[in-house]
Amino acid sequence: MSDPLRPPGPRIIAIANQKGGVGKTTTTINLGAALAKLGVKVLVVDLDPQGNASTGLGIEVDDREYTTYELLLDDVSLSEVIKPTANAGLFIVPATVDLSSADVELVSNEKRSFLLHDALRQYAMDDLAFDYVLIDCPPSLNLLTVNAMVAAHSVLVPLQSEFFALEGLSQLMLTIREVRQTANEALRIEGVVLTMYDIRNNLSQQVEADARENLGELVFSTVIPRNVRLSEAPSFAQSVLDYDPESKGARAYLDLAKELLKNHGRAAVSEGVAT
Ligand code: ADP
Ligand code: MG
Repeated sequence: MSDPLRPPGPRIIAIANQKGGVGKTTTTINLGAALAKLGVKVLVVDLDPQGNASTGLGIEVDDREYTTYELLLDDVSLSEVIKPTANAGLFIVPATVDLSSADVELVSNEKRSFLLHDALRQYAMDDLAFDYVLIDCPPSLNLLTVNAMVAAHSVLVPLQSEFFALEGLSQLMLTIREVRQTANEALRIEGVVLTMYDIRNNLSQQVEADARENLGELVFSTVIPRNVRLSEAPSFAQSVLDYDPESKGARAYLDLAKELLKNHGRAAVSEGVAT
């Protein structure tokens, strides 16, 4: 009998919020690196034409001949587009600016919402044995983000600890509801994670209180602090866990990874770092 908490195949999580600059890419890179450090095998799918997750994980533009674009719109298989990163256990499907035209090209495709879903469920996925797939979504509720939601088991929402943070959420929840009704009935909300939290700022505390009151259990206990190390790390093509493992940012993302694993009934695999 299969264990419902451990379904075969990876758990696929879309990291989405249509607002830009809220910490989607930072969360994708560092949660991915933290999960890999805890001993689970992770694939990041860069679904943003800006390609920031690809750059942040050290994949040079010249080294992106096959990308998410080819995975979605050409006959290139998943195993051909996956690249290893400098972190053991962490892999990526990179993106380039080419992906910006995909949103338009998808419209005329009859499988337009299912292209990522189908690509991730190719036979190859079983061989690749990933535990988690994290999809870094663009700052929009366009067809690319819909593809992520159709492909995913759940949506993880980074919420910037600032005024109006909760305002955009209703639109995001509406899109999730539409995807549930039309294409992916089982889509869940993985959780909402507060990012760029400033402990000295009353506003951060107010946003946190509002979020916990309105969203309850959906809000992760772990909060990601505002930490300059998190913004510096990508320019060194490193996750914060490599760039400055002792930083508050690194510790927070490691805590988030542990909380996620715990929610899924999975134990951290690596010795020493597990709690
Ligand atoms: P998104 O992908 O949602 O557009 P990013 O992850 O790119 O957002 O973050 C936007 C900017 O904020 C980036 O410059 C990033 O380095 C910075 N940033 C993200 N999270 C933090 C944080 N917790 N502390 C400090 N800077 C952060
Ligand atoms: Mg981004």
